[in-house]
Amino acid sequence: MDDILFEVTDLKQWNYCPRVVYYRYCVPDIRPVTALMELGSAEHRHESGREERRSLRSYGLTEGERAFDLPLRSTQLGLRGRVDLAIAVPTRSASNAEGIVVEYKYSEQKAGVHVKLQLTAYALMLEETWDIPVKRGFIYAIPLRRAESVTITKRLRQKVVDTVATMRTMVQGEQMPAAPTSRRQCVSCEFRRFCNDVV
Ligand code: SF4
Repeated sequence: MDDILFEVTDLKQWNYCPRVVYYRYCVPDIRPVTALMELGSAEHRHESGREERRSLRSYGLTEGERAFDLPLRSTQLGLRGRVDLAIAVPTRSASNAEGIVVEYKYSEQKAGVHVKLQLTAYALMLEETWDIPVKRGFIYAIPLRRAESVTITKRLRQKVVDTVATMRTMVQGEQMPAAPTSRRQCVSCEFRRFCNDVV
């Protein structure tokens, strides 16, 4: 499993509960698709349509080339995923080109570390794919219609690399991780019935 490519969303899941990633990769046949997950994907597609009509001003930009729902993949990082929006400023071919990544979220809360980690993973893959630096991104809060700026720091970059390494070790060893200390997230977890030791 050296060549395993994790989904960027696994980073967020790992932060939520490492066992979710364990179930996904070590017991892949058991994942149910919940009504909530289906609703989430439909909402996401709808938002992409709105974004095409939204101006770059939402991100404090006056120019830029946009790529929507862009598939990204890095065998070096061991990650793949689709970023909601990638912007090249002023253009991809400009000598001073800068890349910007944007993710949509449905919550009104400020972006937590798990959301920033995901955004950083997209930033790293966009740098590799477009071969331009990506120093910042935005989390666009749909209910608020507001973009929150996120700096892609060295610390976040390292955390992405370290988290992928830890997830790979877990999957290769097929070792079920410990449950999180708090059981709050277990209440609405789709894997609840498989965690008899904690719920
Ligand atoms: S039920 Fe709790 S411990 Fe089990 S996977 Fe879900 S969040 Fe993790």
